[in-house]
Amino acid sequence: MDCGKSTLALQIHHNHTRQGRVGLLLTRNDRSARARVTTRIGLAKEALEVKDHDDLRTLASGETIDYIICDEAQFFTRDHVEQLADLVDIEGIDVYAFGLATDFTATLFPASARLFELADEVARLQVEVLCWCGADGVLNARVSNGRLVREGERFVVGDTDDGRLHYQVMCRKHYRQGRLAAEGTNTKPVEHSGQMSGS
Ligand SMILES: [Zn+2]
Repeated sequence: MDCGKSTLALQIHHNHTRQGRVGLLLTRNDRSARARVTTRIGLAKEALEVKDHDDLRTLASGETIDYIICDEAQFFTRDHVEQLADLVDIEGIDVYAFGLATDFTATLFPASARLFELADEVARLQVEVLCWCGADGVLNARVSNGRLVREGERFVVGDTDDGRLHYQVMCRKHYRQGRLAAEGTNTKPVEHSGQMSGS
């Protein structure tokens, strides 16, 4: 979902670092398919790639860490979220998690659900991303070969190959209707009547 959450994650990381705080950047299945946080405006930062069986509590052993930033938090596990809560409550580490709330079926990701339950604060990012109709984009549709799909594997990262599978931000109404664009725009160019100037 192109709503700038990775950009915000990196911005927060940068701000803390400038204050002399020590932090870790964690990610999972980043779109670059490498252990780094990348954003569509070209920022990138090396990050630790989290694996299913990692115990995030071990990150705090032996090192002084002031904060942890998790990008793509929807791909973490519920256990990871519990471990992050321990880091907050036992080690006094600040944790910021960024990610999507719901998957392409408009169902909460397990880790996101747990974050909603445990977080001290939850905020929907002020996104500039709009549905094609102009309404706020609130859901993330999976589009395969030009069609909205509602079934399939929960974890499929798009934007990685030839573009046959990608995600599109939509308003709730058009997500539920499955309308990916205004009538006709996918099949033929919009016809204009009248003269073009300068002809
Ligand atoms: Zn719409």
